[in-house]
Amino acid sequence: MVRPKKFLGQHFLRDKNIAAKIVDALQLKQQAVVLEIGPGTGVLTDLLNRRPEVDLYLSEIDRESVAYLKEHYLSLSDKIYEGDFIEMDLERLTTGKIHIIGNFPYNISSQIFFKILDYTHKVEQVVCMLQKEVADRLAEKEGTKTYGILSVLLQAYYTIEPLFKVPPGVFHPPPKVMSAVIRLARNNRVQLPCDEQLFRRVVKQSFQNRRKTLRNALKPLNLPHSVLINPLMDKRAEQLSVDDFILLTTEIEKKRGTDHQI
Ligand code: SAH
Repeated sequence: MVRPKKFLGQHFLRDKNIAAKIVDALQLKQQAVVLEIGPGTGVLTDLLNRRPEVDLYLSEIDRESVAYLKEHYLSLSDKIYEGDFIEMDLERLTTGKIHIIGNFPYNISSQIFFKILDYTHKVEQVVCMLQKEVADRLAEKEGTKTYGILSVLLQAYYTIEPLFKVPPGVFHPPPKVMSAVIRLARNNRVQLPCDEQLFRRVVKQSFQNRRKTLRNALKPLNLPHSVLINPLMDKRAEQLSVDDFILLTTEIEKKRGTDHQI
């Protein structure tokens, strides 16, 4: 047995039917590299390992879980990345595409998504369980209070689909919050039409002061007058759609050619 460790966000899923629903939510058309984040004692691993089209890799930080997995899944023993997913080099895992699945450690779920954002050219799909509140926020559209940085950045690359809720009682130990499973599927935007780092910066800076108009929130970027007069600048971050943010960044980038302040 593996003792659940709170500091690693360990809540082990005990319900086999829910595990099956999560694994079934991963849509694969052909043989694919699948990376499970935080397999723990393998409730999803076991089912993933039975799917013939799945070429499975694991990322697990907990030594005790890794020892358990190596003992129970001999064929996977050299496909376990023992360590922190956030530090993992996904380029080295495969030259091709990756599908990610997992009951994520809730304490680092935002970091996991920022990491995935560094690999949008590789990560085709993510099926994951999260704290419901966080899951809702990721899928949120503009015009709501919970729409935020990760909603915009992720939706620029992924279609996010909320799938189902999971109550605390099916975990050991039960978390204090409701959970939810969502799927992110890579959209058709191969690349943004603007500089991707600048896009991230604009989105982050805009939401840093979400109650201010962008004209004020983006002051630290020293934007030239020709950008400041854009009507989008009268709005607040939460009023801008993903496309608006892309448009705005494209304009900032264009003006950057003539103005080197940014
Ligand atoms: N998949 C299992 C466990 C989910 S709990 C189940 O559904 O029952 C979250 C898991 O993530 C734990 O096994 C924990 O050890 C692991 N974990 C926590 N932080 C991690 C990190 N930084 N990198 C990889 N795994 C991590």
